Amino acid sequence: MAVALITGASQGIGACIAKRLAKDGFSIAVNHYPSEGDKAKAIEVARECEAFGVKAVCFSADVSKMEDCETMVKAVRDEFGSIDALVNNAGITKDKLLARMGEDEYDAVIAVNQKSIFNMLKNVCPVMMRQKHGRIVNVSSVAGLYGNPGQINYSASKAAIIGMTKTVAKEYGRKNITCNAVAPGLIRTPMTDVLSDDIKAKMLDAVAMKRYGEPEEIAAVVSFLVSEDSSYVTGQVIEISGGLSM
Ligand code: NAD
Repeated sequence: MAVALITGASQGIGACIAKRLAKDGFSIAVNHYPSEGDKAKAIEVARECEAFGVKAVCFSADVSKMEDCETMVKAVRDEFGSIDALVNNAGITKDKLLARMGEDEYDAVIAVNQKSIFNMLKNVCPVMMRQKHGRIVNVSSVAGLYGNPGQINYSASKAAIIGMTKTVAKEYGRKNITCNAVAPGLIRTPMTDVLSDDIKAKMLDAVAMKRYGEPEEIAAVVSFLVSEDSSYVTGQVIEISGGLSM
């Protein structure tokens, strides 16, 4: 049975992707941040995945740390034997206008959103090379495509993910490993729940479909990108934003 590892899968989009890929028949490695709260939520996600008749196991790791990723990838291989799909989903925001943003807030977001992807790729790509097969999906954002006031750290990290995606697609294409990115717009998750009504209204105004996206609508595109149906799709960025910019 094919195995999918999803980072930051204890809630929001990551949890939804885990459940969708379980429904698709993947065995699921549910990564969660090493905190008691995230662990409890990840256990619940794994239980919901198992309801689709697949194996699901939780793996604690702070993906901004190389040694955590190394240990986790080894544990996933020991548990499941392979890693067929990797979804780099973990992410944080620390929003402030440039004038008010501290260096610590900049560095923290780059570490979790961008460096984590390097950490995961360094450890998972050799596994996929040996398998001669792999599907990688990186979760970027419309902020990485168009920029967003108050998100210089976040938009930098999400733009970098696009460059990393295309580079990996070029480096590993001949090894039958595809690497694509999704760029969600305004999606209803705990990350966006905290935005003020004013900001939400302004953002929705720019959306052609005049509504939020649901995490399931991101998971559906990821499901395609890890499936055999996308076998000749690589290095692409798929915007899932209800028509934010056309
Ligand atoms: P969320 O805050 O609900 O979930 C983020 C997950 O990442 C959480 O489970 C969190 O514990 C985990 N995480 C954070 N730091 C981690 C670390 N160091 N190690 C391991 N896990 C860590 O947010 P979400 O909305 O579900 O976002 C998921 C992804 O989608 C993120 O990369 C986010 O940037 C991206 N995204 C979200 C939206 C949106 O509107 N919600 C839009 C565009 C992109």
